[in-house]
Amino acid sequence: MTQMIDKRPDPEALSRIKDILGPKGWVDDADDLAPWLVDSRGVYHGRCLGMARPGSVEEVSQVLAVAYDAGIEIVPQGGNTGRVGGATPDDTGHQLLINMGRMNKVRDIDAANYTMTVEAGCILQDIQRAAENADRLFPLSLGAEGSCQIGGNLASNAGGINVLRYGNARDLVLGLEVVLPDGRIWTGLRRLRKDNTGYDLKHLFLGSEGTLGIITAAVLKLFPLPKERAAALVALDSLDSAVTLLEKARTASADALMSFELMPGFSLDWAEKHVEGAKQPFETTYDWTVLMEIGGTKMDGSAGVALEGLLEEAFEAGQVVDAILPQSEEQRAQLWFLREAIVEAQNREGAQIKHDVAVPVSLVPDFIRQANAAAIALMPGIRPYPFGHVGDGNIHYNLSQPVDMPVETFFAEQEAIHRAVHDVALSMNGSISAEHGIGRTKRDELLRCKSDVELDTMRALKNLFDPKGLMNPGKTIPAPR
Ligand SMILES: Cc1cc2nc3c(=O)[nH]c(=O)nc-3n(C[C@H](O)[C@H](O)[C@H](O)COP(=O)(O)OP(=O)(O)OC[C@H]3O[C@@H](n4cnc5c(N)ncnc54)[C@H](O)[C@@H]3O)c2cc1C
Repeated sequence: MTQMIDKRPDPEALSRIKDILGPKGWVDDADDLAPWLVDSRGVYHGRCLGMARPGSVEEVSQVLAVAYDAGIEIVPQGGNTGRVGGATPDDTGHQLLINMGRMNKVRDIDAANYTMTVEAGCILQDIQRAAENADRLFPLSLGAEGSCQIGGNLASNAGGINVLRYGNARDLVLGLEVVLPDGRIWTGLRRLRKDNTGYDLKHLFLGSEGTLGIITAAVLKLFPLPKERAAALVALDSLDSAVTLLEKARTASADALMSFELMPGFSLDWAEKHVEGAKQPFETTYDWTVLMEIGGTKMDGSAGVALEGLLEEAFEAGQVVDAILPQSEEQRAQLWFLREAIVEAQNREGAQIKHDVAVPVSLVPDFIRQANAAAIALMPGIRPYPFGHVGDGNIHYNLSQPVDMPVETFFAEQEAIHRAVHDVALSMNGSISAEHGIGRTKRDELLRCKSDVELDTMRALKNLFDPKGLMNPGKTIPAPR
């Protein structure tokens, strides 16, 4: 006979948690909670006991200690912009949501050490600005930067548009402060660039998606602030030229290439059609375009000179067939607005099936061709919309529904299409999640793409940090086959 486990929380434990947090740190009004109980894609809807909004690491520690003793499950949450349902509680109403938004102080900027120490609830854009005010760059940059939090960025090892030059979130951290599931605090806020003293624990928490503990603060790496940025939107003669141009651009710029974003030409038309303020700047619709940007450390125009020289060569070689070079900061911003607008444009064109895959950069064109063939074979009329951070081999391989196909018919094939696209990536030794993480959406798909050794090790680590299985249960780690 199956024994039912009653996960209803002990009311006394809950009232102790509320006492620790005080009225500023507790939300249980249904209207106030509503936006935090649905994920950013609107796919997952949850319920919760209430939302804790701790104001200090001590409060996080005390809340987790009580929850641990009482067996209360925890869902950590940052800005709730994640794409894989990782920050949404389940529908039992028995989980405690812990939103980190009140812990939003920049604790310290050490410009000489090129570091800053920030609390987990700082909004990414605020961190970028604080760094800039100290004449430094914090390079993590992504579409949701106005609302995502650094704790969420680190927990999901976010990528974005500058990974090519500076690495992803994992590469931008020197130290961490984490509260473990039982309430113990690990204070690892070291500002060191060299520290070879055994296992580097921070890397376990970076990308762990809230399954091992709650990140409460971090020491971030800063970089010299580029004094100028030279951008170009270029039209290519073929998809293969994206890889050739990327290769040349890295060399010609002495690796000062910051971004290299691939967009199908028609996505620019869709952006102009659907998103106010977005303008397709070419006179014709090319098959493939790239938005690229070089950062310069001097204000002498050398970044622009390097870019123009590179493009001239590529024109002569026939790889680039047209180019827009912004002449002002405003025009440069418009091109980046267009890049972000293509995401919203696709939403407005109807239902989509999305993927976030990575393959070796040199195989991106092959991946796109093979994935297109596989998707169209399964569903004639489906409209591939591959775009993204090609400089990192990261394709947001999205597919729009065939025109006039009912949404239910389209989504009925979703699993088969996911499988086919992921199979193409896996056949190239690629990844089914380049930057968005696993969360709920891709948890079971991990069974197909990780070896038993990897899965067993992940489960053993989870069990070591969280033996009661209370931290973000049901996310990221699949049950054994
Ligand atoms: C328009 C748009 C564009 C985007 N572009 C990109 C992109 O280019 N690159 C990219 O990588 N992502 C992108 N994303 C996805 C998303 O913004 C990132 O994954 C972001 O890093 C999530 O941060 P968040 O604060 O919103 O985290 P949340 O969504 O709140 O949480 C994400 C995960 O982290 C956990 N978590 C949150 N905070 C903590 C904490 N303090 N301690 C422990 N665990 C925690 C949650 O439980 C959850 O599993 C985009 C999203 C949108 C909406």
